[in-house]
Amino acid sequence: MQLYYADLHVHIGRAQGRKIKVTASDKMNLAYILKQGVLEKGLQMVGIVDCGSPMVLQDIEELIEEGELRPTRNGDLISRRGVMLLLGVEIESREGVHFIVYLPDLEAVKTWQKIMQRKVTNPILSTQKTSMGATELIDLAAVLRGIFVVAHAFTPHRGAYGCWVYRLYEGLGQRVHHVMAIELGLSADTDMADTIKETRNYAFLSNSDAHSPANLAREYNLLRMGGLSFAEFRMALTGEKGRRIMANYGMHPLLGKYHRSYCPQCRVIAQTDQATFTCDICGEQMIPGVWDRILAIRDYDIPHHPIGRPPYHYRVPLHFIPELGPKTYARLRRAFGSEIQIMEHADLEMMRRIVKPSVVHYIEKMRNNELEIIPGGGGYYGKVKKSDDDH
Ligand SMILES: [Zn+2]
Ligand SMILES: [Zn+2]
Repeated sequence: MQLYYADLHVHIGRAQGRKIKVTASDKMNLAYILKQGVLEKGLQMVGIVDCGSPMVLQDIEELIEEGELRPTRNGDLISRRGVMLLLGVEIESREGVHFIVYLPDLEAVKTWQKIMQRKVTNPILSTQKTSMGATELIDLAAVLRGIFVVAHAFTPHRGAYGCWVYRLYEGLGQRVHHVMAIELGLSADTDMADTIKETRNYAFLSNSDAHSPANLAREYNLLRMGGLSFAEFRMALTGEKGRRIMANYGMHPLLGKYHRSYCPQCRVIAQTDQATFTCDICGEQMIPGVWDRILAIRDYDIPHHPIGRPPYHYRVPLHFIPELGPKTYARLRRAFGSEIQIMEHADLEMMRRIVKPSVVHYIEKMRNNELEIIPGGGGYYGKVKKSDDDH
């Protein structure tokens, strides 16, 4: 068995010279992500969720021709540097909810594209709204031997719990058993998600939903598998034969842009310790916060973790760390390799010899889950509290 770092929700900005995701950086193309991005970050597995686009498929096929990507006997795709590309599609169901389907091979991707051609308005673009309902998407995923995941489940924008249902079975009925994982999303963590009883049936994934190189791997998972393959990944989600998710790594929920409800007119963020959805000042509806929503729909006041639920470790991207500027970043990268190496494994004594002790102090605090956060909200990220903010 081996350990692998995986970020499984990554968007493509541009493919075949065409825009795939309007809000994504042009730098986010497949060649960049596979050759440079994953190495800088330290990922061994990357899930691209725009494989529904024929342009992205063409990029994949070109990389195979160039020898940059190698298909294995089972149809898995491994890069020259040994990184696995997990084929995925993020899709918006008729109900207006986002789901991710991971597909086993390029054949399945092609079948998906053929079917979706008539079910979406613009198949080239990312995360298209389809005329298919959530249960139909589950069936299609099953036919293609795919893995069905509820994307950013708690976000008010297109998350299943965030904007659609109180319980997945309300929306999915019997087919709820075909859901293989819930993606926590940026403003939720394991403690929050495990206050809802039915989540005990699902694995949790923590992914970046990156639209830009900076955000790649701002959240990631540590997987224990017998090798890099779709079949191994499926076993990791169900916890079969010693395969499992060892840990989730993600942003502190307080750092998220939508942690608490927000009134765009009065520009205030909910402050009380109760779920708040209307503005105290103007009485209008607020944009619901992830925390407020979970508080309103939860079963338990405190988290009830099922046996074997992996720990959730709070992480902030290195550029969020006070005093860690470009020069310090370059020095750390030269000494320790990837960002994940710096965050998780680099020796702190060695680090103290090459960068300011205060930077090492923050990294140490982060590893111990002790980093203090100034909350974000209203569309703005939170910040790491500087040590000298204390006095
Ligand atoms: Zn989405
Ligand atoms: Zn997305």
